[in-house]
Amino acid sequence: MAKDINLYKTCIKNSDKMSVYDEFIGYVKELYDIGKASELIGWDQETYMPPKSVEGRGYVLSTLSGVYHEKLVSKKMGEYIDELSKNNDLTDKQKANVREIKKVYDKNTKVPLKLVKEIAKTSSLGTEAWQRARKKNDFKIFQPYLEKMVGLKKELAEAIGYEDKAYDVLIDDFEPYTTVKDIDPVFSGLKKVLVPIVKKVMESETKTDNILAQDFDVDKQKKFGIEIIKNMGFDFEHGRLDSSAHPFTSGSCDDVRLTTFKEGHGFHLFAIMHEAGHGLYEQGYKPENYRTPLAEAISLGYHESQSRMWENLVGRSWFFWKYYYPKLQNVFPEQLKKYSLEDFYHAINIVKPSFIRVDADEATYNLHILLRYGMEKDLFDDKIEPKEAPTVWNQKMEEYFGIKPENDAVGVLQDVHWSQGLFGYFPTYTLGNLYSVQLFNQAKKDIPDFEEKISNGQLRNLKEWLNKNVHEYGKLYSANDLTKKITGETLNPDYFIKYLKEKFQPIYDVTL
Ligand code: ZN
Repeated sequence: MAKDINLYKTCIKNSDKMSVYDEFIGYVKELYDIGKASELIGWDQETYMPPKSVEGRGYVLSTLSGVYHEKLVSKKMGEYIDELSKNNDLTDKQKANVREIKKVYDKNTKVPLKLVKEIAKTSSLGTEAWQRARKKNDFKIFQPYLEKMVGLKKELAEAIGYEDKAYDVLIDDFEPYTTVKDIDPVFSGLKKVLVPIVKKVMESETKTDNILAQDFDVDKQKKFGIEIIKNMGFDFEHGRLDSSAHPFTSGSCDDVRLTTFKEGHGFHLFAIMHEAGHGLYEQGYKPENYRTPLAEAISLGYHESQSRMWENLVGRSWFFWKYYYPKLQNVFPEQLKKYSLEDFYHAINIVKPSFIRVDADEATYNLHILLRYGMEKDLFDDKIEPKEAPTVWNQKMEEYFGIKPENDAVGVLQDVHWSQGLFGYFPTYTLGNLYSVQLFNQAKKDIPDFEEKISNGQLRNLKEWLNKNVHEYGKLYSANDLTKKITGETLNPDYFIKYLKEKFQPIYDVTL
């Protein structure tokens, strides 16, 4: 009898706990709905909103973000988190949802509202000053705003708290559970090898026609791009491809919006594949986890690993174009009929050091990131001051690329990020590149006849592999843990280095 009573008590206890969790998750789902509404309205702003509707749209977004914030930091949310954090009976997935919401809750409750508002104000004034500074090619105009923003971000890091470095707090916003201690050895190993690789490629005699610098009709490209991304497995019943000034991906789960360039005669197919890579991640979560952290990407780096995998490892590969190049030639006979597959393959893989990060190729791109990462780390370690930024930038450009920017507009002033306080964001690009190759390497081992399949236009196996190994987990694991689970080791830059050497050696006819 006593045993039965105990059993009865346990049942009540369990059902009580479950109900607190159920209530919590119901509350979280409402929070996600508000976030989703903001995102959709933001998407509309970039795609279809009439030009003079900006002001009214600003009010809507600001009200929604206020409602979101109020709900997130509410007393009720605090009580749920307190109670559920003590509960050891939750499943691993439930624990992950509590852990992730707690992480966001803590950050939002620890930072004083006054500081949040000051950062927002400095960001909008700083962005305006940055635009002026870049136009006039005068860093001095931007300098006071950079100084202010670095100071405010240091205050923010103090408010949130950290074990080792203030900069870790900023990285954590984009690459959770990853710190300078994780990144430093990986990036310094990469730098040592990349600088000489780029130098050797530059010394090569091989010259390539820049075939892509011709006019390619935007609409024809979009149509061709849709065929490719449908083949990749992007689901148009749960997503769209529209146009905007700059391509982006927005939305998640059952409604994912991609965009490509509205105008311009450049070659846009890589951008379309890139965004579709992001889109497949967002469409790849399990429906039972929708509207919770288990239907969210691990980190920006992991998100970028997906887009870069499709853009570069598939999209700039010989195998992919073996299938698609004849089709592309049929769409653009005037531009491409006179060029062979080999000519085209070389043209899409030109390596050339440039001043501008966004124009960089697979081999030089990471050097741009290593430069910014090193500077950000030094700014937050007080090893350099904001006023020294242009000098340090130019020194590093010479050290990494062997070229020196003619002016700050193509140097330290080229990116908008710092004016908006986005420190800790840049390293996610290189982390993404490194993760992409390490994961791709494993996919090649797991999928039989992988390259043959790609050269026959069969892209679904890779999408399914990514669904099963990466997407379906959402935020259940950290980037480090998931990488270890999939590949047997944590992030290792050697895969990327090996990939670069094997790819560019034959193209440039050099020993790397
Ligand atoms: Zn991206």
